[in-house]
Amino acid sequence: MDAGTNASFDPAQLPLRTELSACVRLMHDAGILNYNGHVSARIKGQDQLLIHSLVTPRSKVAPEHFVVCDLDGEPMEAAPGLKPPSEVHIHSQIYKARPDVDAIAHIHAESVIAFTLTVGGPCLELMRCDAVRWRSGIPMHPDPTRIRSREQGAELAATLGPHRAALMRAHGAVLVAPGAPAVFADTIQFDENARAQLLAATLGTPAPLSEAELDALEEASPPEFMDHYVNKIWRYYVERGRAAGLIPDDWAAHLG
Ligand SMILES: [Zn+2]
Repeated sequence: MDAGTNASFDPAQLPLRTELSACVRLMHDAGILNYNGHVSARIKGQDQLLIHSLVTPRSKVAPEHFVVCDLDGEPMEAAPGLKPPSEVHIHSQIYKARPDVDAIAHIHAESVIAFTLTVGGPCLELMRCDAVRWRSGIPMHPDPTRIRSREQGAELAATLGPHRAALMRAHGAVLVAPGAPAVFADTIQFDENARAQLLAATLGTPAPLSEAELDALEEASPPEFMDHYVNKIWRYYVERGRAAGLIPDDWAAHLG
């Protein structure tokens, strides 16, 4: 086994590790992940999560670069050179608090951070039609430091509450979803929505979606449509990544 990889993982984890690897590479290519940020998934049926190693460049993450951790953020296996990110507690504590969540993205995207940096300035609003999925609210976590302890992770999970996304003051955001393709689609569109608000503000006063418009959008977006929509976004980016050489052809069987 090479330092920094673990090729002897449970083969049953290969589909999930491949999906997560694609998520990381594609988010990196989209500029949403860089030297910071991470994506994880719950290993269903077990109180464990998969997260890519601290030391692996996000552009290179592959199935053998993941660490299995328990829901206290502790690695479950000794793989030389593989360590979870120092902010693993973001993930472990949210999985603990939210049984409905199976995938999490933590991002440091500039578009999103901007909305945590102004005094009395505009909040991040629901601008684009796709943003209806965050209608329940996008709270902001006040702690600007790295989430480096279980306690801080639990505090962030409390701020997130039942919502699908939370901002983190001067730091970034966390997004949660029922699976890796869904958290990928959410993250892409969360960034799009933030950039749309910034762009609209250069033209005039942004007009967020009204309650009536949100009602109409919810009615037009039943769960079966959202499943189709997530799949459409996911397949678009996977195919684009495959054509650009970011996604190896032999991952295709696990990417839907
Ligand atoms: Zn962070």
